[in-house]
Amino acid sequence: MVNSLHGLRAGFLLILALLAGCSNPPPPIAVSGVAFYSMRWQVQVAELPNGMTATALQKQMQARLDAANAVLSTYQTDTELMRLNAAPLQTWQPVSPLLGRTLQRALQVSEATDGRYDVTVGPLVDLWGFGAESKPRRVPSDSDIAQARSRMGWRNVALSVNADRVMKQRAVTMDLSSVGEGAGVDDLAATLEALGIQDYLVGIAGSLRAQGKRPDGQAWRLAIEQPDGSGRPLQVLNLPSGAAISTSGSYRNYFEENGVRYSHTIDPATGRPIQHRGVSVTVVSPDARDDTLADAWATALNVLGPDKGLALAEKRGLAAYFVERSDQGFNTRYSTAFAPFLKP
Ligand code: ADP
Ligand code: MG
Repeated sequence: MVNSLHGLRAGFLLILALLAGCSNPPPPIAVSGVAFYSMRWQVQVAELPNGMTATALQKQMQARLDAANAVLSTYQTDTELMRLNAAPLQTWQPVSPLLGRTLQRALQVSEATDGRYDVTVGPLVDLWGFGAESKPRRVPSDSDIAQARSRMGWRNVALSVNADRVMKQRAVTMDLSSVGEGAGVDDLAATLEALGIQDYLVGIAGSLRAQGKRPDGQAWRLAIEQPDGSGRPLQVLNLPSGAAISTSGSYRNYFEENGVRYSHTIDPATGRPIQHRGVSVTVVSPDARDDTLADAWATALNVLGPDKGLALAEKRGLAAYFVERSDQGFNTRYSTAFAPFLKP
């Protein structure tokens, strides 16, 4: 029974606090801030390393995320990714470990979904008004959509085997907004482990990783949120320590025109925002400790929608949980691999 929430919402995921009946266990040490302009990050640890204050931990985490932003963001022109987008074609460009690692995951999922997730989605994201330029959000013309689609294609991005160099065959605009949260979580988790911290929870918007135990000796507990924004749990989860989990959804960032809702998740097959009944997708990473991969898959399955997305998850043995609109309200469906993560 869940009777107490920590009041923390992580974009479709909740971090649950106490179990019913627990008497005053010590709370975790919690620090937080804002990453990638608008996303709330938080770190909870059971205890701090000797001599470290919570303020010092907060500063160190914030500095890591500011550095990740300077690599991955497309919202400012001077990031490493934007320099790569502007770099000459058909020459190998060196990339940092963070950019190489993140691109590797994004390209892997681009390939696995035959481009329904596509790391070169940039022109479409900009065209629909979800990019860095604050242009009005309106439905573009068919010819503009066709033009933007013609400038896409993940196959034009080659990554060296060591993920340390990139070559573009054609002029493409890479967009890693769909995996920034997961990449940030992976970076913070690695930083915490380097500090010798074994018991922690890291969350950035919809990506989370919980490792070890809370100070009261119990496992960290997460839940998928009701899709009504109430902050109530829809499904409590039972995750192994260190499991990377990420959600993607279409009910937060969208615009409406003539009664139709256009979300920031765009299907490269049509060049238009997704229109299916899916509300959110939650993925537990197939590789432990890889929130970047979980985050890419969550967006990818959100593009595909509950029917095709669930079929692909089943085929690949991926753990995925879908919430979809139904005539009665909401429906949930999940793949076989997700079943062990549901708390009865
Ligand atoms: P949320 O943070 O709401 O869960 P996502 O993680 O799914 O969102 O990321 C959405 C972002 O991904 C969009 O704002 C856009 O920049 C990018 N994007 C949109 N469509 C695609 C796509 N088909 N493939 C890859 N990235 C996409
Ligand atoms: Mg994502």
